[in-house]
Amino acid sequence: MQPRDLSDHVAYEAGRGIEEVARDLGLEADELVKLSSNENAFGPSPKAVAAIEAYAPTVHSYPKSSAVDLRDALADRWDVGSGQVWLANGGDGALDYLARAMLRPGEEVLVPAPGFAYYAMSARYHHGSVNEYPIRKADGFTQSAGTVLEHYDGERVIYLTTPHNPTGSELSPAGIEAVAEGTDKETLVIVDEAYGEFSDTPSVVPLVEERDDVAVIRTFSKAYGLAGIRLGYAVVPETWAEAYARVNTPFAASEIACRAGLAALEDRDHVEKTVDAVRWGREYIHGNLACQTWESAGNFVLCEVGDGSEVTERAQREGVIVRDTTSFGLPECVRITCGTREETKRAVAVLNELL
Ligand code: PMP
Repeated sequence: MQPRDLSDHVAYEAGRGIEEVARDLGLEADELVKLSSNENAFGPSPKAVAAIEAYAPTVHSYPKSSAVDLRDALADRWDVGSGQVWLANGGDGALDYLARAMLRPGEEVLVPAPGFAYYAMSARYHHGSVNEYPIRKADGFTQSAGTVLEHYDGERVIYLTTPHNPTGSELSPAGIEAVAEGTDKETLVIVDEAYGEFSDTPSVVPLVEERDDVAVIRTFSKAYGLAGIRLGYAVVPETWAEAYARVNTPFAASEIACRAGLAALEDRDHVEKTVDAVRWGREYIHGNLACQTWESAGNFVLCEVGDGSEVTERAQREGVIVRDTTSFGLPECVRITCGTREETKRAVAVLNELL
């Protein structure tokens, strides 16, 4: 017995955990600086930790009401209806629900290259096939509606990422609207704002209210520091509210995740502190790393180091973990997450030694 033919599927390559790397290097985890997964350098909000601890003794019960509370709070935050907030197991889970809701077998999607690997994976899991549009180094990795539309050929779903992983570039709200305007009524434009809190550009959630062919993805993994809890959501058009119950996995987000999310959402100070550190970190890396870097609106910076795999490996031996971007099709680069000031300075110092 074998599973169905999965030969066109690839496994998601998660970055290795800090303990695992430390063990390989014969070091303690606290001797390492991990700037490879765009996590929050300050950890979770203490309020979220308290909410998790308070709930822990009752985890034997099935989730009850906090998903409703969190959906209401997010609906309030974005000025949409609660039915438009589709909670999920991370932004990844939200992408799955949208693919599940949209794709009929064999339908096509359009994804950015380079880009976040899970768009294509999720589409394939849902029996879709994948086409690409480029985000070109020759254009300084800038994004434009024109390039997306040039490559559009009636696909059912288009994925846009702003700020974009791994380059940090943005597509303006006007550009996003131009993509939605320039494509078929039956094409959904998914705008992935996983890194939205780090950008000065406003969210395009209001566009979801104006038209029925745009959805937005958001996550608690980055600015809210809850990557391990797996909590994200899609904001979908009003007419889709009913569809959620038909596509989601029962208890789409765990009770613990929802409670942590609610507490994190209220802790504005923690988010502000995080965003401030990221702003400082981006400037510091641009100003001090002795190689080409690109303007980033995310909590990371893409850097051209020559041989990304080699530099990643050598930096790791010096206790600094960065992300080799070879799997994004950028073997000459690494991506550095902005950490605390101390972590970011150490990463830049180590990389400068290696360049
Ligand atoms: N979108 C982008 C662009 C990402 O980089 C990530 C995380 N790597 C996600 C979505 C999903 O993150 P999560 O599932 O942790 O919410």
